[in-house]
Amino acid sequence: MRVATYLKLSVAVAVATIGLKAGAWWLTGSVGLLSDALESLVNLAGASFALLMVTLAARPPDDDHPYGHHKAEYFSSGFEGVLILVAALAILVSAAERWLNPQPLEQLGLGLGLSLVATVLNGVLAWAMLRKAREVRSMALEGDARHLFTDVWTSVGVVLGLVAVQLSGWLWLDPLIAAAVALNILREAVGLVRRSVDGLMDHALEPEVQASIEDALAEFKHETIRFDHISTRRAGTRRFVDLHMHMPADWSLRRAAALRTSVEQALMAAVPGLRATIQLLPSDVEAHFDDPRDPL
Ligand SMILES: [Zn+2]
Repeated sequence: MRVATYLKLSVAVAVATIGLKAGAWWLTGSVGLLSDALESLVNLAGASFALLMVTLAARPPDDDHPYGHHKAEYFSSGFEGVLILVAALAILVSAAERWLNPQPLEQLGLGLGLSLVATVLNGVLAWAMLRKAREVRSMALEGDARHLFTDVWTSVGVVLGLVAVQLSGWLWLDPLIAAAVALNILREAVGLVRRSVDGLMDHALEPEVQASIEDALAEFKHETIRFDHISTRRAGTRRFVDLHMHMPADWSLRRAAALRTSVEQALMAAVPGLRATIQLLPSDVEAHFDDPRDPL
C-alpha cells in the first residue's frame, strides 16, 4: 500500500473511533469517555493534515505557485488547532460540572467494550503505519503513527480509570480523568496552532541548521570573499536561505558563477532540501534593502 493509502485508512479509522467512543459516552454518561472521544478528533486532524502534506503540499511548483505548495499544511493545522482547543475547553467545563454534581455511570461494561474495540483498531493501525513509515522514511506518516500510539495509551488509561471507578464507587475519578485528558488535548492544540503561526510568519530555520549553513560558508571565506545578509526561512518541509556573496570587482562573471555553484552545492550538501538564493556583489558595493542590519 502507498503512504497516501495508509493515511486515508487512518482518516477512516479516526472517524470510526470517534463514533465508537461517542457511543461509549452515550451509553455510560462518563465524561472521561467523552474526553477520550474528543481526543480522537486530534487524530482525525492529524491524519487529514498528514494526507494534505503528502498530496497537496507535495505537488510540484506551477506557474501560479513557482515556490511550490509547502505552506498548504499551515492553513489546515491552524484551523484544526483552534477547533481542538475549543473541544478541550468544552471538556474542562463538563468535567467541572460533573465534579460538582457526580452522576452514576451506566452500562459501563458495554461502553468500555466499545472503547476497547476502537483502541485495538487504533493500535493495529498505528503499528502498521509505523512499519511502513520506517520502510519509506515518511515523516508525515511517522508523526501520524506516533500520535496514534499516544492516543492508544490515553484510551487504555481512561478504561483502567473507569474500571477503578466501578470497583471503588469513587465517582469523582471520572471528571478527574476527563480533565487530565483535556489538558493533554489542550497541549496538542497549542502545538498545532504554534506550528501554523510559525510557518505563516516565515520562521527562521533552527539554530543548529543555521550553524551548519555558517560552517559550510566558512569553507569559502577568504580575504577577498565575504558573505553577509544571511537570512533563512522555512515553508512547510522546504528550507530557504538568502545571502550576499561579495567578491573582487574585477572577477569575470564566469569565475563568479563557478564559485557560486560550488557554494550552492556545499550548502545543499550541508542541509538537505535547502534552496539557496545567492546574490553576487563586488566587495565594495552593498545592495540596499532598508535592512536595519545593513552596515552602510
Ligand atoms: Zn552584502
